[in-house]
Amino acid sequence: MAHVLLVEDDPAIAQPLARALARAEHRVTLVEDGPTALDRALAGGFDVMVLDLGLPGMDGLEVCRGIRREDARLPILVLTARTQEIDVVMGLRAGADDYVTKPFRPRELMARVDALVRRTSSAVVPRTLRVQDVVIHIDARKVYRNTDEISLSRMEFDLLYALMNEAGTTVTRERLMREVWRTHWFGSSKTLDMHVSWLRRKLGDSATDSRYITTVRGVGLRFEQDEPTPDA
Ligand code: CA
Repeated sequence: MAHVLLVEDDPAIAQPLARALARAEHRVTLVEDGPTALDRALAGGFDVMVLDLGLPGMDGLEVCRGIRREDARLPILVLTARTQEIDVVMGLRAGADDYVTKPFRPRELMARVDALVRRTSSAVVPRTLRVQDVVIHIDARKVYRNTDEISLSRMEFDLLYALMNEAGTTVTRERLMREVWRTHWFGSSKTLDMHVSWLRRKLGDSATDSRYITTVRGVGLRFEQDEPTPDA
């Protein structure tokens, strides 16, 4: 859970976004103009700021610069329809950490928010996770098998992290859909199966004779704590 400062003056964007963040168990403070956004951000207490650029009173870029003059640490995710300004937003002149272009899918935004929160709250979570010979460097979002780096997509990484974080126990499909994809959809979860299959391939694992990821039929998936013992 993170305390999110959501700055967006368009209720058609702000309201569904606030609800989605709340559903993901984040605390949300909604602000609708630039000067208030800057005041609240500088007053502190937030884990991440989601900042629209076109705001009444003070432009989002000004808000961003104002924060960076005082506080180098608050992670800022910019919402923008102005793709030509992305370089400015991300560069030294404004100092945002990430951006999402409008229109965006809420799921994408949530994943970015989570990534920013994880990056900055790393002092309280373990920095690496090792199970068998697979190691996750959480802050850097890198994965190694032995010493070989495995390149994963963002969702593959989140899925692997969710499984390895509870290695040895079966994580239900519903929970994976909820935690990795931020959805409560309990229907067919083909996208989960696809990501599992890609992940297995990248880890050099097989579905029929799994070393890492075991499918527990009708329930979910389990990252094995120990290497399987050879058949006698
Ligand atoms: Ca706006």
